[in-house]
Amino acid sequence: MTETERHDYDVLVIGAGGAGLRAAIEARERGMRTAVVCKSLFGKAHTVMAEGGCAAAMGNVNANDSWQVHYRDTMRGGKFLNSWRMAELHAKEAPDRVWELETYGALFDRTADGRIHQRNFGGHTYPRLAHVGDRTGLELIRSLQQRIVALQQEDHAATGDYEARLRVFAECTVTELLTDDDGAIAGAFGYWRESGRFVEIAAPAVVLATGGIGKSFQVTSNSWEYTGDGHALALRAGARLVDMEFVQFHPTGMVWPPSVKGILVTEGVRGDGGVLKNSDGERFMFRYVPDVFTGQYAETEEEADRWYDDQENNRRTPDLLPRDEVARAINTEVKEGRGSPHGGVYLDIASRMPAEEIKRRLPSMYHQFKELADVDITAEPMEVGPTCHYVMGGIEVDPDTGRSSVPGLFAAGECASGMHGSNRLGGNSLSDLLVFGRRAGLGAAQHVAGLERRPVVREEAVRRAAATAVAPFEPSSGGTSENPYTLQTDLQQMMNDLVGIIRTHAEMMEALDRLDALRDRVRDVVVEGHRQYNPGWHLALDLRNMLLVGEAVATSALLRTESRGGHTRDDYPDLDATWRRRVLVTHLRDDDDGGASDPVVPRVVVEPAERAPMRDDLLALFELAELEKYYTPDELAAHPGRDR
Ligand code: FAD
Repeated sequence: MTETERHDYDVLVIGAGGAGLRAAIEARERGMRTAVVCKSLFGKAHTVMAEGGCAAAMGNVNANDSWQVHYRDTMRGGKFLNSWRMAELHAKEAPDRVWELETYGALFDRTADGRIHQRNFGGHTYPRLAHVGDRTGLELIRSLQQRIVALQQEDHAATGDYEARLRVFAECTVTELLTDDDGAIAGAFGYWRESGRFVEIAAPAVVLATGGIGKSFQVTSNSWEYTGDGHALALRAGARLVDMEFVQFHPTGMVWPPSVKGILVTEGVRGDGGVLKNSDGERFMFRYVPDVFTGQYAETEEEADRWYDDQENNRRTPDLLPRDEVARAINTEVKEGRGSPHGGVYLDIASRMPAEEIKRRLPSMYHQFKELADVDITAEPMEVGPTCHYVMGGIEVDPDTGRSSVPGLFAAGECASGMHGSNRLGGNSLSDLLVFGRRAGLGAAQHVAGLERRPVVREEAVRRAAATAVAPFEPSSGGTSENPYTLQTDLQQMMNDLVGIIRTHAEMMEALDRLDALRDRVRDVVVEGHRQYNPGWHLALDLRNMLLVGEAVATSALLRTESRGGHTRDDYPDLDATWRRRVLVTHLRDDDDGGASDPVVPRVVVEPAERAPMRDDLLALFELAELEKYYTPDELAAHPGRDR
């Protein structure tokens, strides 16, 4: 049997994006010996790619902003499926988390009077995104890392060892969570990407902060790491996922040239004045304001343009409707023959402001597309279309602590669910990471402090995890051998075609059949070579997670017979108020003998459950007329507005 390196910590954080780093800082500051593991280089996470900014109702650019307005915007954006408690905590705590970042060394762009500048973004009533040009995620990660280094320096001064209480395991992939005899978290198992050596990290609390699932789709803004690992690890450890049908397709990914296909064009381009046009040169978004937003958006180009300078007396441009609405509108324009030559529409900022101003406000956008694709955004429009960007569904967590249903298992950031309902507003992820990363780190620390005994890793579980990990090196039992890259391409194409932006019953049934076939094929994946830096082997292991998550998304999408947020059904095009109350919960299917159904890619079950009703004082923040668009009459019988 292969050797396994062993470590022991109080809190293990899996993922070093914004959520993981903020959780690790909190756990360490609460006195816990903390490890952070990340599959890529330290500092390379989706968080670093975030461009537009971090939403927080600081009211620096428009003093009318408040947590209540932010709360309302978030719930509207999520079409009232958000965990109201998470949306409340987020709206209230985001400003403190942004200010705290500056105490770690971040430096946001400034207003003329020296306050943190805030920019407009889709679905936000007021300018609300604290930003650093269009490189906000880089500053966020840089300052969180700086805080980690500062804590390590404190530890060195106290103990002579930088890593005494906080250690980063970079380029180390976790493949399995380990539980004790009672099903409580006892640690995790993984491998060093470079050497292929196995690692076991024992810890009575694990925080999952592994980000998204976008790599399961062909056209995506996500990078190679985002294979739904945290979602799958949680499922296999016995936790539940919720809302997995809600996948966000960002409306403006580049569709051309091929060198930048799928790469994101930040919503900041539209926030700063860029507009969407079809092949007739029409600003088509004025035709796509849905009933639920009637009266809230400008009805003429003149009003929309005035809004950029005078927000008190004009309504915002429909170019800045929430992402799900804009993505669907682009899809319709292309389908009806008014698209660009390569199947998108045009995003024009070049004709809207001087080149120097574009370069100043959007430096990364300008340089990235100039260098990677020879597209000059100061001189020509971009060709854009929907790209798989973010998953709203994820691990079911307690809003206040990030605790999952498995003792000792916590989650935060994109891999957790609840905060964004059926559709995330731009900028609400970075603030989500900080608010709930801190809370999950705190929850994990309190869990460990309250333990009477530490859970013990079962040796049998470690042996099984090691055997599963080396299986792709063994000859396939079926005689045929599958290449992991071919399988991944087939999966991505299928998810894009059948479980993408517009869905139908027949397509979902076909997707589930195809997933069955892929599940059979994954057992026959064989990789060549040895365990030292072997990307084919790494992908073979990631595929298990992608298939499990793919089944959760397709099954949930089949069951939800309505259209809402990041889930659009061609055969059920309307929002259905009875579905608002229901949450779709995914868990592993058990065999008759109580074991997980398949050791390689177990099967999932998706079941509806009741969604917790919103607290009365929060419900009272909305006008009755607005709630009536989302709620059933009986749910609103006791609303105070009824008596007026
Ligand atoms: P990530 O930052 O995705 O980090 C995940 C971590 O988990 C990584 O360290 C990874 O290596 C690690 N990991 C994954 N699997 C494993 C495993 N098996 N073992 C060990 N480690 C693992 N949001 C905004 O609010 N504003 C924006 O302007 C914005 N712009 C964006 C632009 C782009 C191009 C993209 C892709 C996203 C953008 N987002 C934005 C969304 C936001 O960046 C992400 O949702 C967010 O950063 C996710 O953070 P996270 O901490 O949950 O995970």
